[in-house]
Amino acid sequence: MEDILRKQGWTLINQEKWFEPLVDWRLWAPPAAAAVFLIVVARYSFLAFHTFAELFAIVISFLIFAFAWSTRKFTRNNFLLFLACGYFWIGALDLIHTLVYKGMDVFIEGSGNLSVQFWISARYFEALVLLIAPFATTQKQNEYFLLTIFGVIAAGLAILIFTGNFPTGFIEGEGLTNFKIYSEYAINLVLLLALVTLLRYGRDISTGEKALIATSIFMTMCAELAFTFYVDVYGFSNLTGHIFKLFSFWLIFQAVVISHLKEPYAALQKSEERSRSLFDVAEAASRAKSEFLRSMSHELRTPLNAVLGFAQILRADPQNRLSPHQIEHIDHILGGGNHLLELVNQVLDLARIEADQLDLSLEDVNASEVVAECVAMAFPLGAPKGVQIIDEFTGGPSTHLRADKLRLKQVLINLLSNAVKYNRQGGTVTVEGRETGKGFLRLSVTDTGIGIAEKDHARVFRMFDRLGLASTLAHEGAGIGLTVTKFLVEHMAGRIGFVSQEGVGSTFWIELPLAPPSEEVLA
Ligand code: ADP
Repeated sequence: MEDILRKQGWTLINQEKWFEPLVDWRLWAPPAAAAVFLIVVARYSFLAFHTFAELFAIVISFLIFAFAWSTRKFTRNNFLLFLACGYFWIGALDLIHTLVYKGMDVFIEGSGNLSVQFWISARYFEALVLLIAPFATTQKQNEYFLLTIFGVIAAGLAILIFTGNFPTGFIEGEGLTNFKIYSEYAINLVLLLALVTLLRYGRDISTGEKALIATSIFMTMCAELAFTFYVDVYGFSNLTGHIFKLFSFWLIFQAVVISHLKEPYAALQKSEERSRSLFDVAEAASRAKSEFLRSMSHELRTPLNAVLGFAQILRADPQNRLSPHQIEHIDHILGGGNHLLELVNQVLDLARIEADQLDLSLEDVNASEVVAECVAMAFPLGAPKGVQIIDEFTGGPSTHLRADKLRLKQVLINLLSNAVKYNRQGGTVTVEGRETGKGFLRLSVTDTGIGIAEKDHARVFRMFDRLGLASTLAHEGAGIGLTVTKFLVEHMAGRIGFVSQEGVGSTFWIELPLAPPSEEVLA
């Protein structure tokens, strides 16, 4: 039997564990508790029972709508959205049914017939919505249009009833009319068709949803059957019918909650956990990389210092005078070695920065002294290119900064060597300094070099970014210097920036806080 159904494409039976959402006790507990409450209430007042039972179902149908509507952009579940738009108006018809129930007399005198008519029209409406919904799954639908169309149908039904153009459903003293009884059978038939359609054609509907909606339809059919038996609007079959209805609405609500809320949240949580674990992996990899760079730089420095040291000894050894040719070779070794050492030191700094292991010791530093020392150190760099370094800062009134002296030197040397490296033959580099008036000293290094194109300005401080420059003998580098420089300046509570024009030159500036006046000066 199962095989035959499977072959014919009965999609629900095709799935394993399709009943899983239905065996969870948490699904049944709330409507079961509500049912117990309703049965107790019914013992005291049937009208109160009816009002509560209907209100529960009405609230659920509005909740179905509210949930599906407010999350429709994320879920794109056309099937449930279609149902939700329908259930909004079914809820509205049920509300009128409750208000005009016999004995309610809210806005007009309640009557058995009026409430039965609203009941019947809401059930026809519900059965048809359930029948059409599986076909809505694949259709692209405009939810505003859907809501309006359903609204027009509901309003049309209400007008027919209030104007007396709807068939009579209940006659006081006699009971249900044939119209009402046959309508319940007809509604059940439509519901049966809806069930078959759902199971047979709802291919794009998830198994869980299908199981819940199919059970809901089944419950509605049970409710309808119960209603065919009743003779009195306050009777036992009426009670059973309403409880079945409550369960059926609840199941649709659960389908919406699962598909529009629980599943997206579960997916979100899963992706969050995944990205967190990816982040942990990335962080561990980054730490391993920094550690590798750090230990490699250390290991490289020792033999490199030996190479440089012995090259210097060879060059200066008075016992073994070298030929000019050999001295030239040694100078190549020294030049290349020094460049390599500088690079290794930069990489080491970078690794320390990334591992948060770079300690700065801030002290009172005489800015003029440091600038003079750095200019003196940079002087030989400019010689081969005939670049002149002009120090316009030293010699002025002495200024004290709160900085790490060694790191400040590193920063200035870096800016000066860039200003020489990217300068033209016979160009100039000018160092200037002035207090900004906000407790900072601004030191600037201006060159007359190649400058930086406007489009590259945003990339200047980016790690390993050389702005498209190839590492040639004239422009050797790795694109680390300014990254480290920026970090150092900012960790001394300062700022760094530049202005530059392609082909004209650049001015790189740093601002560092002035040292607070010393005790002696204050005294
Ligand atoms: P490196 O000089 O080792 O390439 P830096 O981080 O010091 O690395 O500089 C990054 C890039 O910024 C350089 O490759 C260069 O393109 C540009 N740059 C830096 N300083 C100057 C300057 N004074 N003039 C022109 N371009 C510069």
